[in-house]
Amino acid sequence: MTATAFTPRIFSGIQPSGGLTLGNYLGALKRFAEKQDEGIETIYCLVDLHAITVWQDPERLRQQTREAAAGFMASGIDPARSILFNQSQVSAHAELGWILNCVARLGWMNRMTQFKDKAGKNAEHVSLGLYAYPSLMAADILVYHATHVPVGDDQKQHVELTRDIAAKFNHDYGVDFFPAPEPVIEGAATRVMSLRDGTKKMSKSDPSDASRINLTDDADTIAQKIRKARTDAEPLPETLEGLKDRAEARNLVNIYAALSGMTAEAVVTEFAGQGFGAFKPALADLAVAKLSPISTEMTRLMADPAEIDRILGEGADRAEAIARPILDRTLDIVGMVRSRRG
Ligand code: ATP
Ligand code: MG
Repeated sequence: MTATAFTPRIFSGIQPSGGLTLGNYLGALKRFAEKQDEGIETIYCLVDLHAITVWQDPERLRQQTREAAAGFMASGIDPARSILFNQSQVSAHAELGWILNCVARLGWMNRMTQFKDKAGKNAEHVSLGLYAYPSLMAADILVYHATHVPVGDDQKQHVELTRDIAAKFNHDYGVDFFPAPEPVIEGAATRVMSLRDGTKKMSKSDPSDASRINLTDDADTIAQKIRKARTDAEPLPETLEGLKDRAEARNLVNIYAALSGMTAEAVVTEFAGQGFGAFKPALADLAVAKLSPISTEMTRLMADPAEIDRILGEGADRAEAIARPILDRTLDIVGMVRSRRG
């Protein structure tokens, strides 16, 4: 079988499972905006069907979806140049998700670390959806024949699973239909850690608000959270090697690097020998300078929720126009009777 050359296309998503964080911004949103400016087709999705894998209050979910849409646009995603929509408005995601549930193997799903992290000791009581999350994510990507998926480091395993699912589908049905999408994990902050615990990822669903910086935090809150961020008592070293066993310090250096556009090496060189008493205020100033225009723009956009809904609806129509024919071909391949088609 000859390998089909797929047109480069980018897909990625964020769950409206809470407010957007600095981790979402540096690991995803900032990079989504950069990709849009590289001239490749970009499709960005608020994955609301993923959000309900854990309990979401319905009114808050609606609000969070609109706020996340505002966060995307405030971070530079232009709905005229990228497709921006919420997942549940394009039913092809869920339909392909079911088919991929029948392709993915239980043994593969059992290796997914996100499920283990999120289910914890409570695995008997979490939803079946939380377990099936990665095959719906595979559908999100494959229903557009996306070739590149910009994500934070924590989602690498799910994109790799997507490749396995695509390959198994192609193999089982003897087709060369789905591409093998590549995870694109770049930049100085591909895994921003919690401000309270350098071994845990910063997450919008972490119960501790002090663990994260939200894109909607005001300047004082940002400065206070950085001041209180857990660190050690040592000054910053001369080289990055010196941060090897200092997870919290390394995290703040990475954040500084990603926000300033410097390399982590350059940050360490600039602050070598200085303590956190000097570094934290510099980081707080930088974070406020970079994030406050975003939060101001989010507030402006949120004042007109009807306009946000209109943008999401238009994005959903454009997404549907790509996804529906790919889903239809998938249904043909798997042998479904398709007599209602025009
Ligand atoms: P939740 O806690 O509900 O899972 P989250 O903060 O992990 O929320 P997601 O919606 O799961 O956010 O992920 C959206 C994108 O943001 C993904 O590409 C993910 O890799 C990226 N991302 C999430 N957290 C971080 C982080 N701490 N550092 C870098 N990237 C991150
Ligand atoms: Mg997550």
